[in-house]
Amino acid sequence: METILTIQNLSKKYGRIQALKNVSFSIQKGHVYGILGPNGSGKSTTLGIVLNVVNKTSGDYKWFDGNVQTHDALKKVGAIIERPNFYPYMTAEENLKLVCKIKSINYSKIEEKLNLVGLMERKDSRFSTFSLGMKQRLAIASALLNDPEILILDEPTNGLDPQGIHQIRDIIKEIASQGTTILLASHLLDEVEKVCSHVVVLRKGEVLYSGSVDGMSANEGFFEVSSNDNLALKSVLYNHPSIAEIKDEDGKVLIYLKSELSASELNQFLFSKNIILSHLVKRKNSLEAQFLELTKNTNPKN
Ligand code: ADP
Ligand code: MG
Repeated sequence: METILTIQNLSKKYGRIQALKNVSFSIQKGHVYGILGPNGSGKSTTLGIVLNVVNKTSGDYKWFDGNVQTHDALKKVGAIIERPNFYPYMTAEENLKLVCKIKSINYSKIEEKLNLVGLMERKDSRFSTFSLGMKQRLAIASALLNDPEILILDEPTNGLDPQGIHQIRDIIKEIASQGTTILLASHLLDEVEKVCSHVVVLRKGEVLYSGSVDGMSANEGFFEVSSNDNLALKSVLYNHPSIAEIKDEDGKVLIYLKSELSASELNQFLFSKNIILSHLVKRKNSLEAQFLELTKNTNPKN
């Protein structure tokens, strides 16, 4: 597997504010990564450091195999970390021509990228007449002009209406399907779940989880059960080796597992102890519940 970016023990302090603390993760070619975390968790700081616009305090990062200078490596990176800004009185096409000129890119790329973001019909409209969603799409087209290895986006759907959000997400998926690696920062779990294959969860500058989006919800799950004698039910459950915790909730007993246990195994076990269940459901925490669990404050000082 080809590595695009490696971040090791990256820390950042703004004066006394610790924005990042020992952040480590890596990005492999061809995947879509989300940096997910609430506002202020350090997402933009992380992107700013690897894009060389924010100075790190300590730690390291390297682009590609580490043998190219950051300055040269960044020529293969397309990034949008601020609100899109183009010349308002110039058309979409004229703005992109200017970018091509500055970066020595062939004009032939313009049509391809405008088509990709669905702005070909509007190429002759002035930038000032564009909606925020169209401005964002033009920024994506611009960042892709030189066919970068990786596209970096900071909160790409912030401030857009539902239709605009949908369009941007579809475009991101389309770009990913063409093989471009993507790294996007978002505070929206839903967005990361819909768009990304991998996720780094940040809270207060620290990595809480890093891995596949599917893996984030792949816990053992829990059962919801009840019988006409829940006390007897619980006393039997306490000694089962697969059970980590038992909780009461609205007349139901919730059983959290520490190792795999099927519904029929549980049912059979209880039956052998003379417990007849009136209710048995196996549930898994939604990704949202997992995320809230991961990011809730565990440190009483916070
Ligand atoms: P996010 O993008 O996840 O919302 P940021 O990286 O913008 O988080 O911010 C992380 C922390 O660093 C926050 O506490 C924020 O207030 C602080 N911070 C960010 N930029 C600056 C700055 N230029 N000066 C001082 N503090 C900053
Ligand atoms: Mg931010």
